[in-house]
Amino acid sequence: MPGFEYFGESERNSVKEVLDSGILMRYGFDGLRNGIWKAREFEAAFSARMGVKHTHLVSSGTAALTTALAAAGIGSGDQVIVPVFTFVASFEAVLSVGAVPVLCNIDDTLGLDPKDVEALITDKTRAIMAVHMCGSMADLGLLQKIANTHNLVLIEDACQAIGGSYNGKPLGSIGHIGCFSFDFVKTITCGEGGAIVTNNTEYFEKGTAFSDHGHDHLGMDRGADEHPYLGYNYRISELHAAVGVAQLKRLDEFLAIQKKHYDLLYKALSMHPGIEFRRVPSGGVENYSFLNFFLPNSVSMDSIVQYLRDQHFDGVFYWYSNNWHYHRKWEHLKELKSLHSYSKEVLKAARINSATSFTASDSLMERNLSIIIKLSWSSDELERRCAILRNLGQML
Ligand SMILES: *Cc1c(COP(=O)(O)O)cnc(C)c1O
Repeated sequence: MPGFEYFGESERNSVKEVLDSGILMRYGFDGLRNGIWKAREFEAAFSARMGVKHTHLVSSGTAALTTALAAAGIGSGDQVIVPVFTFVASFEAVLSVGAVPVLCNIDDTLGLDPKDVEALITDKTRAIMAVHMCGSMADLGLLQKIANTHNLVLIEDACQAIGGSYNGKPLGSIGHIGCFSFDFVKTITCGEGGAIVTNNTEYFEKGTAFSDHGHDHLGMDRGADEHPYLGYNYRISELHAAVGVAQLKRLDEFLAIQKKHYDLLYKALSMHPGIEFRRVPSGGVENYSFLNFFLPNSVSMDSIVQYLRDQHFDGVFYWYSNNWHYHRKWEHLKELKSLHSYSKEVLKAARINSATSFTASDSLMERNLSIIIKLSWSSDELERRCAILRNLGQML
């Protein structure tokens, strides 16, 4: 998955242009910057690539999620449905706007289970946050239908799924707002960075204001514009955007390599009848950043993980026991171990999240492994990995 594996002259040159211009900030200084606007350039290229009206760059994927929620007017006491398999940024963003994260089961897509989403909707629910973990998606058609029926905002977290698609549309462009991360381990990177994409001009304008102290960006210079809203500083710098401009041009190259590597590993694993792959909903195309599969009940997951480790097969994730991505290790959320106090609605939701058992998700995740797909594997390394996966048969 990581764009940092392929990092070179074009990224360096793009950063040098910014350093030579002397203007490291994305806004203002119009006369001094020699026409260098890297954030704007990235945003225009990304909108074209995603087929959306608007892209707004921010400082991280977490900032993108927070900005998306604020732009959609979600705040104190509002409930947002988030999956039990995601990155902690999902609930951090929800909590940061004063809203309440409501944890929801996943299904064999490893994304939100639409049936459970529907069951969790209350008169306080405002949004569904669909997280496209490991390069693929939930049943987005069903989630869209539920969002429309109940008048909810569908936010797509496509941080791990850039380049994937659903019914021919890029992931991230399907819900009301899509969020991306360009942190250092994502498919393309700015070092740190993120983006929201949307066709909703009101969300876009509110998002740009929110992420820059509420500036409306309409005045002639940064002193003269107004601040219609309160906001924060989630700005991206020109240096980060410059790296992203160069990386975005290489996205198709990266995706093609990912697919080629994925296909070879998939073929090696698919010779074992006991192994099942994550379900990709009909109409969906992964971005091939991870290969996700389920092992049969008969084998010990510990012994499989140990075998792969002994064979120096790195980049295997057993999310069920992972500290960051699965609800079992989120006692900081469930017990609200915060540095500041929260509203009584948030406290109540934490108690409910803590008391709920997610057995449907657990029984899937305890059988699931993910292999990260690296771009830089040589053909020898690929063959070595395929041989290890073929030999897995002796343990099944
Ligand atoms: C990386 C990631 C984020 C957060 O992005 P940052 O840029 O690291 O803040 C959010 N959601 C998912 C699914 C991610 O993988």
